[in-house]
Amino acid sequence: MSNRPYIVGNWKMNGIRAMLAEARAIERGAGRYPEVQVGLAPPFTLVQAMAEQVGALETGGQDCHVAVKGAHTGDISAAMLADAGAHFVIVGHSERRRDHGETDGLVKAKAEAALAAGLGVIICVGETLEERDAGRAEAVVQGQVAGSLPDLADEGQAAKVAVAYEPVWAIGTGRVAAVDDVVAMHGAIGKTLAGALGEAGPSVRILYGGSVNADNARDLLAAEGVDGALVGGASLTAESFLAIVAAA
Ligand code: PEP
Repeated sequence: MSNRPYIVGNWKMNGIRAMLAEARAIERGAGRYPEVQVGLAPPFTLVQAMAEQVGALETGGQDCHVAVKGAHTGDISAAMLADAGAHFVIVGHSERRRDHGETDGLVKAKAEAALAAGLGVIICVGETLEERDAGRAEAVVQGQVAGSLPDLADEGQAAKVAVAYEPVWAIGTGRVAAVDDVVAMHGAIGKTLAGALGEAGPSVRILYGGSVNADNARDLLAAEGVDGALVGGASLTAESFLAIVAAA
């Protein structure tokens, strides 16, 4: 596994061309922290421009279709993302699982499509508040990891995969998971990865996501088993996102 912290911004459905100035500011600021791997996932409409104009950052998509091409109106394939200059794609975000009914099996197929296109892939998992309150958080997340993980050929492929643990109740709510709970969950995810992948398991990075901001980033990123962060709201401005990069 790379020891470089991996900090990824997810712009969700935010960003028109004027926002590329913010991405350029993030690129300039991130240049002061070469030890941190920084990625930004804008909406599809900005992927190509960001990849061309902000080349020192990794550009990512927020979803991809399982097929390379075909009759799938409104969808974008991993191969198209790669052709537009993307380096990675996020799959299985809880907003897609919720809004589009995405299942673990579909997320796995998307992750495999991403790897086949030469992209890195960030696979999102996370429990709801009801599942946590019922004491089922670890079982739910371990099941999602096992069901969403692509069949990996070797450690090289595993190094292109990250799992983002994003408790659903912490996304966009300002409510962040306790560091002890994050450590416990990342440990549980690590065990599932080791069980599924053997020696390649530790090559998969495990990120935390859910209301990460300048104030809580340092503690979260210093926690055992946390290899980086997936950041939503706080990735929309250079000021707040760079504070998280600096904390890494
Ligand atoms: C996300 O959407 O992946 C996320 C973590 O959002 P936020 O940081 O806004 O909670």
